[in-house]
Amino acid sequence: MYHEDNYIMLSALQHYLFCPRQCALIHLEQTWNDNSFTMQGNLLHERVHEAQREVRGNLIIARGLRLSSSRLGLSGQADVVEFHKRENGCALPNASGAWQPFPVEYKRGKPKKDLCDAVQLCAQALCLEEMLDCHIPEGALFYGKERRRKSVVFDQTLRTETERCATETHALLSSGKTPPPAADKRCNRCSLKNLCLPDTLSKNLSRYYKRIMEGDE
Ligand code: SF4
Repeated sequence: MYHEDNYIMLSALQHYLFCPRQCALIHLEQTWNDNSFTMQGNLLHERVHEAQREVRGNLIIARGLRLSSSRLGLSGQADVVEFHKRENGCALPNASGAWQPFPVEYKRGKPKKDLCDAVQLCAQALCLEEMLDCHIPEGALFYGKERRRKSVVFDQTLRTETERCATETHALLSSGKTPPPAADKRCNRCSLKNLCLPDTLSKNLSRYYKRIMEGDE
């Protein structure tokens, strides 16, 4: 169990999985830079967050819902959580009957090969499960480029990976140390490349370590 003062943002998990240095730059050093990728993502999110709650018969759509988990030490906001009326669902404040939550996260671009987006969505589901005392078997990622939903099943493998990622991200951020640059192909897609300077820093580090090995330091 984490104290609220030690909660980290849900988005930190996605940043950590992409690159631990990016995660530390954003969440430790508060470094941010809007490149075209993040601008597109922000616009998409702004549109998603325009309305707050909508009722359509047996469906409630909640936008911008605040989420948290004391077990995982996470807090943040969900783009969209759909609540479908189901006999085996959970109780909601200000709504009669039982409702099954179904989180939906909006992403620019197209589906990725890595687990970054799925882990972020699963972390939202784990928060909702803790908050509403329910089980959430699946959710969906909506990709702006393809304009379609991709179903994500919250199986045990994804849950374990999400919990591992939360633990490692806490360890990184509580260490207070920003890792050295990765300087690999991820950097070309990174919103912080101009601030991180991966090539310059990694060359300087290589020179520094070489001098140490040669006994010059
Ligand atoms: S530029 Fe590369 S090393 Fe730097 S934060 Fe981004 S991905 Fe990580």
